[in-house]
Amino acid sequence: MKKRLVLVYHPDYLIHTQGQHPERKERLEYILSAYHDQELDKIIDLHEPDPASIADLQLIHDPAYIKSVEEACLAGRRSLDMDTYLVPESYRVALLSAGGVLAGLKMIMDGDSDRVFVLNRPPGHHAEYDQAMGFCLFNNVAIAAAKAFKDYSLQRIAIIDWDVHHGNGTQHSFEEDSRLLFISTHQSPAYPGSGNKNENGRGEGEGFTVNLPLPSGCGDAEYELCFKDIIVPILDQFKPELVIISAGQDAYHLDPLAGMGLTDSGYYMMAKSLAAVADRWAGGRMLLCLEGGYHLQGQAGAVIQVLNAIGELGLPIPGNSPLTETTARFQDYLEEIKVIQKKYWKL
Ligand SMILES: [Zn+2]
Repeated sequence: MKKRLVLVYHPDYLIHTQGQHPERKERLEYILSAYHDQELDKIIDLHEPDPASIADLQLIHDPAYIKSVEEACLAGRRSLDMDTYLVPESYRVALLSAGGVLAGLKMIMDGDSDRVFVLNRPPGHHAEYDQAMGFCLFNNVAIAAAKAFKDYSLQRIAIIDWDVHHGNGTQHSFEEDSRLLFISTHQSPAYPGSGNKNENGRGEGEGFTVNLPLPSGCGDAEYELCFKDIIVPILDQFKPELVIISAGQDAYHLDPLAGMGLTDSGYYMMAKSLAAVADRWAGGRMLLCLEGGYHLQGQAGAVIQVLNAIGELGLPIPGNSPLTETTARFQDYLEEIKVIQKKYWKL
């Protein structure tokens, strides 16, 4: 059956921006113009969300931290830390950003859509309980997952974070919770430095955090091995009722902040294999949320290929990047991660 795909977007997402900072409004503008160029506006609706409520933010964040972000904006502060800038309207835009993911969740859970891609900013996966980090103010995907547990009584949610940086904030939000399986692929060593392969969750949540720190230079072939040998088999054992993706396109080969080698084809492959997981276990329910991605044109093209995969749009699929010599050495590397994961999953 053809999937009902919706995009969530709000024009105010462009207000939070600062000159040539890599996390700037042009990222979304490029994605939107690619959406129009491909004439996807004729087949995929854009849905405008409401802001998240403070109560929803408090599912994940410290009330005092939430207040402090609002006050910092009111006081005209220009940043919360070295990386995370503010403009006077950033607090309001961040509420709309979290609201975007909640709107997507509602559409999926109400049965109005199978797949939703939220084109929001600022991003969220680095944001911690009481701290902004790495361009992120509030943890959008974590808030959506917490809301899905609370209001929709889901028992098993998977968050797959393919952003090139480790989703530290998301991991820490659910580290002790066996209802949430968190899987992250990320370049290592790289910012923020967490996401070691031995970080597997704690207490009740042990085994439900899966980290795949990858050496720089990994491309389509290496990521495909990760998905085929580790990520999909684990997801098939976990059987998620909802698949959430922290979709950052900064593992793209031209990204100025990272050193990975994914092409459009790699993004198509990752999205396709997770869509199949959603179809097998989650009634097709798939919620994607933008994170990083800083090569303006590249990240926009990658998003189009993700839409192509999850919405079965039938756009031409680009060819795979050639196998690299990294791939042979990479098999050994992957084996080490498998040895750790075999403690918890059949691989
Ligand atoms: Zn990133």
